[in-house]
Amino acid sequence: MSSRYSDDFLRRLRNEIPLPNVFRVLEWPHKKREGYFRFLCPFCQEFNTAVNPATNLGRCFRCERNFNPIDFLMHVRGYDFVAAVSYLSALLPPRPRSRTS
Ligand SMILES: [Zn+2]
Repeated sequence: MSSRYSDDFLRRLRNEIPLPNVFRVLEWPHKKREGYFRFLCPFCQEFNTAVNPATNLGRCFRCERNFNPIDFLMHVRGYDFVAAVSYLSALLPPRPRSRTS
């Protein structure tokens, strides 16, 4: 599938929107337990999961699957890639502007 989005933009969507924020916006079940941010796995419906803050990936240990914010939205909302990107772009924090102009 061709994409009209730049790699840099997609990288920001994956890295700069913390998954816990995505869960909150979606009102998707999640909780902090034993120092890990856990979420309901959309496949097995269990909380045997954790978010790795360093990579911003959610992992289900039972399904052995990883989710970035784009994957997660596509799975839980049934969005296609373009819809997921469009939704997430609204959550992206504003980028600091250079003061050249
Ligand atoms: Zn699972």
